[in-house]
Amino acid sequence: MHRARKRFGQHFLQDNEIIYSIVSLINPNPDMHVIEIGPGFGALTLPLLSSLDHLDLLEIDRDLVVFWNNKNLKGLNVIEGDVLNFNFLEWAQNRSSRIGVCKVVGNLPYNISSPLLFHLVAATSAIDEQVFMLQAEVVERMIATAGSSDFSRLSVMLQTRYNMELVLKVPPEAFDPKPKVNSAVVRMIPRKDFNLTDFQRSALEKVVTAAFSQRRKMLRTNLRAFTDRLHLTEFELKSRAQDISVDRYVEWAKALAA
Ligand code: SAM
Repeated sequence: MHRARKRFGQHFLQDNEIIYSIVSLINPNPDMHVIEIGPGFGALTLPLLSSLDHLDLLEIDRDLVVFWNNKNLKGLNVIEGDVLNFNFLEWAQNRSSRIGVCKVVGNLPYNISSPLLFHLVAATSAIDEQVFMLQAEVVERMIATAGSSDFSRLSVMLQTRYNMELVLKVPPEAFDPKPKVNSAVVRMIPRKDFNLTDFQRSALEKVVTAAFSQRRKMLRTNLRAFTDRLHLTEFELKSRAQDISVDRYVEWAKALAA
């Protein structure tokens, strides 16, 4: 009997309808290359594998790695390790040299969701789609637009990298053990239209981090170090970080990097 490990954010999906909906969203087919983060006991794994030729699993919990290795299922490749150390770019580049799109999927451990989302950004050039279950509040922040109280550094940094949509809301009752929070499934498609240089990306990171460093303060204060180079309007100087659009942050990043 496996006791769910809190430190690994283990909440196992039980609701068959929700499992079916998530698998349909991933839409597996034999040509596709899929890696699942945190298979647990396989709520998504087994239905996915039934439509795929091969499936990579990435799992940190040694007991679960043994569980999957003992099953010896055809097409299944189990990788033991911490997702935050896994090189998704290399994985996708190796897979995409063959036919078929590359997808990263999973019902993620919520305790590492932000670092994981940022970690995955390094692989956007080679990954076609990500489908993740996350804490609903995090998904709301990912997709929030300027003017909303959910609009944050996460929103800007991810929206310049992905087109994202919340595709399914999932209540705590769908899991065992039940999490204390609501969950949601997000679909993330890397954007090919946002071609910023590394220099511009790093300027974006700097200006966005500074702007959101003290949410309640005006940009006149938070962006003091940049104002001579950014030519903020009088209105912008009195605005807060959450009122500035993604496009405007990108303009500032380009100006800083110029
Ligand atoms: N996919 C299963 C399901 O839907 O029932 C389990 C989901 S559970 C929320 C998260 C899974 O991620 C667990 O299997 C857990 O052991 C694994 N996990 C947690 N932290 C991890 C990490 N840093 N790297 C890889 N896997 C991790």
